[in-house]
Amino acid sequence: MPPMIAAPPPALSLPETLPELLSRGRDALQAQALPQAREAAERAWVLAQAEPIQPVPYGEAGHLLCQCLFRQGALAELIPVAQAVLARLGDAAPWPVRSELLRRLTLAGCELGRHELALRSATECFDLSHARGDDLALSLAHSGLGACFERMGDPWQAERLVSDGLALARGVGDAYVTMVTLNNLCAITIGAFYLLHDGGSDEAEARAALERAEAYAREAQGLLPSFEDPLFRVFVEGNLGEVALHRGRHDEARELLERSLQTAQARGYTAQAWRIRCSLGELLMAEGRPTRARAELDKLLADMGDAAARATLVRTRHALYRACRRLDLPEEALGHLEHYQRLERQRATQQLKAQSSLFITRMEAERSRQEIERARHQAEQERDHAAVLAADALRDPLTGLGNRRRLDRDLPALLAAAIGAGEPLCVAMVDVDHFKPINDRHGHAVGDRVLVALATQLGAGTRQRDLLVRLGGEEFVIVFPQTPLAAATEVCERLRQRVAGHDWAALIPGLSVTLSVGLVQAGEDLREASDGRLLDRADQAMYRAKAAGRNRVVTQAGRA
Ligand code: GH3
Ligand code: MG
Ligand code: MG
Repeated sequence: MPPMIAAPPPALSLPETLPELLSRGRDALQAQALPQAREAAERAWVLAQAEPIQPVPYGEAGHLLCQCLFRQGALAELIPVAQAVLARLGDAAPWPVRSELLRRLTLAGCELGRHELALRSATECFDLSHARGDDLALSLAHSGLGACFERMGDPWQAERLVSDGLALARGVGDAYVTMVTLNNLCAITIGAFYLLHDGGSDEAEARAALERAEAYAREAQGLLPSFEDPLFRVFVEGNLGEVALHRGRHDEARELLERSLQTAQARGYTAQAWRIRCSLGELLMAEGRPTRARAELDKLLADMGDAAARATLVRTRHALYRACRRLDLPEEALGHLEHYQRLERQRATQQLKAQSSLFITRMEAERSRQEIERARHQAEQERDHAAVLAADALRDPLTGLGNRRRLDRDLPALLAAAIGAGEPLCVAMVDVDHFKPINDRHGHAVGDRVLVALATQLGAGTRQRDLLVRLGGEEFVIVFPQTPLAAATEVCERLRQRVAGHDWAALIPGLSVTLSVGLVQAGEDLREASDGRLLDRADQAMYRAKAAGRNRVVTQAGRA
């Protein structure tokens, strides 16, 4: 009998579920572990595509994968994923995911020379952001459109558009979007520099573009410490290095570029690494080291294949052309020049094609921005107006006190609170004695001034938490929360004396004013407040005060 061998435990290779993969991918991305994040995202994406499609995990898997691919600069691979998510989810895609995917498609289209895709995505993102009144998304959409213009050969239009986007971002006060936008402006003005410089048309203008690029980059650099994202440091400092190189500050350029390259390579930002290597090749040329430049750039060309951004390919070919000319290698130089010209011709053709489908002009962008402004202003005014109306509706215009609507609104709640807390609540009905003769003798205007003066005295003699309203005519109501009848009686008596003792003759000779007050304490019945019984009881007490000779306070139980 063979010896018993314990069977090996089954391999713990349970496949990860979609939620597990998504969570692992997100954590890895958060930890800047890009290859691990991409591996999890790719597996999540495969799983998510298995029928039947569930919109939420499907969208999340696609979104996560696109984030990884974008960071790696794997733009050609990003496009079909983003397109699939947008096509399958449509309006059902959460807005933040949808807008980000549209932006990624825009940038990928721009970098790879697929201008129609870029413009379509940029325009859709612009329109949707606009329709939703999402200023931050709209700001970024300006950047997307600007990138389209820049890559199609119009960096000036691009700079204007993205400057509008910058104004929007500053308006919202969002540091991240401001930093991203500044960085885009820097990239665009560097693009303007190449166009002007290579075209040899206007060296002064080319230098001015570089100066603007540097200013944008410096401001963006100042914002970097708020975000612990090495990708943006690479973007911003890589750009700064490029600017320093072209402004002749070679040592500074080398330091910035080498540092950025190191980070880009360590983090797996492939496309950025290529762009920086191209700049380092140009730096070698600028330093008068064409042999070394040619070797480095040849290596770069081989590494990039067709996968690189077109702008990087164009620059690399041009730098190699110059290096080979310097090294007296005319055939090799010609080969690079031909490639360079072919890329430029392609760009020009695609630009023409895309421009014919371009329907967002800067004017339209400007118009839509103004519309947003106008709509927001109007909404604010309507809100203010509504607030004023709402407040007006509860206020007595003559005295500024609350009115009957205010009492109807607040008394039930005050009573409910009192009953709930087991605290007493009292209500006083206050009526001016013989007010009609005051009006008749001195005129309505004097009567009004008496009412205003009374409101002031009643306000001064009550607490903040008491509710004082003018019910109408010469009648006021005071609600005393958390007050037993004896204390409320004291307050009313003081008010009565204060009014009776006031120097009314100062207002008009011979004038005197007194009050009759009916005061009751609320019972335990909540309905008393809303069905008017409480006020009726106060009114009856007030009439008893009138009947008893006026200028007095009568409580429900009898004369105070
Ligand atoms: P009593 O002591 O019985 O309360 O006598 P009274 O004159 O105060 O009684 P009555 O309720 O008949 O008079 C109220 C007067 O208040 C009638 C009206 O002309 C006047 N009145 C009502 N509203 C206003 C107002 O907004 N301004 C002025 N000046 N007078 C008003
Ligand atoms: Mg009256
Ligand atoms: Mg009266």
